[in-house]
Amino acid sequence: MPPVFQSRAVKAAALVGSGFSSFTRTRRAAEATILTFHGLCEDAGSPDILDWTLHLPVEVFRSVCAMLASDYRVVSLADLIAAQNNQLSLPDNSVVITFDDGYESNFKLAYPILRRFNLPATIFVATGFLDGVDMLWFQRVDLALGRTRKETLEWKINGRKLRLYLGTREQRQQSLMQLMPELKELPDADLLDEVDRLERALEVHPPTLVDLPAPMRPMSWDMAREMADSGLIEIGGHTHTHPILSRCDSMTMRAEISTCRNRILAELGDLPASFAYPNGGEGDYTRETMLLVREAGFKCACSTINGRVGTEAPMFQLPRYGSPESVWEAEATVSGAFETLKEWRRSCLKAMSLI
Ligand SMILES: [Zn+2]
Repeated sequence: MPPVFQSRAVKAAALVGSGFSSFTRTRRAAEATILTFHGLCEDAGSPDILDWTLHLPVEVFRSVCAMLASDYRVVSLADLIAAQNNQLSLPDNSVVITFDDGYESNFKLAYPILRRFNLPATIFVATGFLDGVDMLWFQRVDLALGRTRKETLEWKINGRKLRLYLGTREQRQQSLMQLMPELKELPDADLLDEVDRLERALEVHPPTLVDLPAPMRPMSWDMAREMADSGLIEIGGHTHTHPILSRCDSMTMRAEISTCRNRILAELGDLPASFAYPNGGEGDYTRETMLLVREAGFKCACSTINGRVGTEAPMFQLPRYGSPESVWEAEATVSGAFETLKEWRRSCLKAMSLI
């Protein structure tokens, strides 16, 4: 486990164990929190995938859900939107659960747990991924680096020359971490060509639906329909092919958003109400993106910028927190303990004129 996670885990355990999270839970009860998950897994760390950060062990998810069901009020994103429009008031300590991309594990592993605790959730799907046609580009990169027989690769990207070491699993993981930020910088028009070129250079075939490792598989539309029909799960939009929207030209951006909306409407019979920007950080979507999402009929959109949701949250860039790695981290997040600590740190530094 990298030191950064260890220190976050230790900090979370201290904030919960000391009672600080109980204090912030009461003090910040009026703020809602939105959590972002991706996939779940039963065999974290198995060698067929290099980057496991998008696939949370199912037992961690179960314990997070048990904690939320007991100490918090999990509400739907629709309720949060209604509260922002003053149509209802949210209970104290509201939490919204969301998932990005549309993994099969959301249906097979998360849905039974959500049903057991009766917790609503929103799943933002990349519709081309569910169609089984457009593999997620970052999964292709992970598999290409993981499956190649090459031991090194010289790679030119963004005017830089990288030497990627691929001899051991650790080296492959490091190479993936080196390459991903570079790929995310590319204009969308060049990204898939670059991934094709990388697969050719590494002498691996692009993955197909049947040879994707289980945690990487998309859910089927039947699975999405069954969950949507239950009333517990909302299916939202996450583009069609999962590009970083700010790297797209206007026409592509519009097409990605409208194709996604139309595929969900065609498959599920209802217009999706909510959207999440791929990658979702600052600079990953623009003012134009927000306008296009609104024009396409979505009622809100989520970023991945951390923050809590107050009474006047920006509806087309709702803040979210990333997937907690443990139940303590989940509690330190939803209670506002992490955020309070961050605010105190910022005001201390400000007082000391360091920022
Ligand atoms: Zn995504």
